[in-house]
Amino acid sequence: MASTKRDYYEVLGLSREAPETEIKKAYRRLARDHHPDANPNDPGAEERFKELTEAYEVLSNPQARKAYDTYGHQIPRAGAGSAGSGGDPFGGFQDIFDAFFGDQFGESPFGSFFGGSGMRAPARGNDAEVEVQVTLREAAYEIEREVKVQVVKGCSVCDGAGGTKTRQCGTCGGAGAVRTVRQSLLGQMVSTQACPTCGGRGSIIEVVCDNCRGSGRVSEVETRRIRIPAGIEDGMGIKVSGAGHAGERGAPSGDLYVRVRVEEDPELMRDGDDLIHRMRINFVEAALGTEAEVPTLEGMTAMRVDPGTQPGTTLTLRGEGMPRLRRRGRGDLKVVVDVMVPTRLNAEQRELLKRFEATSGEETYGNGGGESFFDRLRSVFR
Ligand SMILES: [Zn+2]
Ligand SMILES: [Zn+2]
Repeated sequence: MASTKRDYYEVLGLSREAPETEIKKAYRRLARDHHPDANPNDPGAEERFKELTEAYEVLSNPQARKAYDTYGHQIPRAGAGSAGSGGDPFGGFQDIFDAFFGDQFGESPFGSFFGGSGMRAPARGNDAEVEVQVTLREAAYEIEREVKVQVVKGCSVCDGAGGTKTRQCGTCGGAGAVRTVRQSLLGQMVSTQACPTCGGRGSIIEVVCDNCRGSGRVSEVETRRIRIPAGIEDGMGIKVSGAGHAGERGAPSGDLYVRVRVEEDPELMRDGDDLIHRMRINFVEAALGTEAEVPTLEGMTAMRVDPGTQPGTTLTLRGEGMPRLRRRGRGDLKVVVDVMVPTRLNAEQRELLKRFEATSGEETYGNGGGESFFDRLRSVFR
C-alpha cells in the first residue's frame, strides 16, 4: 500500500530543498487546478486533490517533514488508530457570515507566523477556499448552498500532538524555548531562541502517530451549508471565520473563503443592480404596437409596446431588477426594444412593401421618435 504512494515532493513538483514558502505556494496553485469542484466531470480529481493535500500537510509541518525526509512513507508505526472525524458539519455558520467585495483571495496575511523573540508560536491554520456557482436568478434571493471543503483538522488519535507517545523535552524542560547568554562588546546579551532539540514544541515524539504521520493534523472533507445573500455579484466572496484549516496545538483555525460565481442569464443581463432585457419585436409590431411577454426574475409579465416604437427604446420596470446587496430595495428592469427587419421576402411581400412605400412619405415617419438612436441606447447604461 505504502509503496504505491507517490513521493510528496514529486506530488507538489518541488525539490527536497524547497523552502516552506515554496511548499505553500505550490500547494495553493495546484489545489486551485485540481479542486474537485473545479473538475466536476473528472472522477480522478478528488483523488489527486487528496494526494496533494496530504503531501502539503506533511511537508508544511517542519516536524512531519523531517520524519518524512528520514523515513519516507514507511514511518515508524504507532498503535493502529481509526481515522478520526469530529465536529458538526453544519455547525457554526449562522452568525459568522460576512460578504466582502473584490478579489481578496491572495496570500493570507496570517499564513503562519512566528513569535518575535525566537520562540515559535503555534501557527494559526491556513485559510481554505472553495468556489460555488449560482445562477443569476438564484443570486436574486438569499439561498443556502452545500459546499464540500477539504480541510486539515486536528488529529483525533493523538489529539494533535503528532505522536501517541511523547515525553517532555529535556533541553528546554517543556518550555519550547531556550535562553542563551553571551558576552559582547556591548555587554551581556540575552536572547531567547526556539529549542533546537524539540523545534519549539516542548515535547519529543517517541512514537509518531500513524493517523497523521506526526503532523498532528489530518485532511478531511467537510460539508458546510453556506448562506448566500440576495444580490451577490460574480466574484464576491463569503468568509466563514474559523472554518478553514486547523491551527497547530491550540492555535485558531484559518478562515474559509467561499467565492461565488454568478452565471450569466440568457435573457437578463446584469448591470449592477439593474437588469437589461433585449425585447425583439418585428417591424410591423413596432409600427402597429403590440403586447409582448417580458421575462422578469419572478416570471413572465406582459408589456404594452406602443405603435411607432423606435429601435433602442427603453421601457423601464421599476423595482424589477436585482436586490441591492445588504441594502433595501431593488434595481430596475430595463427592456430595450430591438426591431427585427425582414431579411428574406417573397415576391408577394416585396410587392406589398413597395405599395406601402409608394403611399408613405416623410409624415409617415415623423421625426423618428425625437431623440437619436444613440441617446436612447445611452439611457440604458446610465
Ligand atoms: Zn495524530
Ligand atoms: Zn525543547
